[in-house]
Amino acid sequence: MEYITARRKRKKRFKVWKELEEEINAHGESIAKCKHCSVELSAHRDRGTSHLKRHIDSCVKRHLGLMHEDDSDGDNFVFDMNELRNC
Ligand SMILES: [Zn+2]
Repeated sequence: MEYITARRKRKKRFKVWKELEEEINAHGESIAKCKHCSVELSAHRDRGTSHLKRHIDSCVKRHLGLMHEDDSDGDNFVFDMNELRNC
């Protein structure tokens, strides 16, 4: 396992790993645990991270968290929508 890591050293980690926790499951397999909703996804290094990225993009808990961050903007947006509807 060590040599694989060394050979791929210059390959940077994908951004998804900022939002996922790499863990080993009961079967000794690498998994990626979503930091937002704690869902466990398979994380074989050789299989790429497209499915992980897909989860991050569609993670409901993550989106709720992001919405919560700019709460006031969201309220204003809803208000504007209602005004447009009345016109
Ligand atoms: Zn998630």
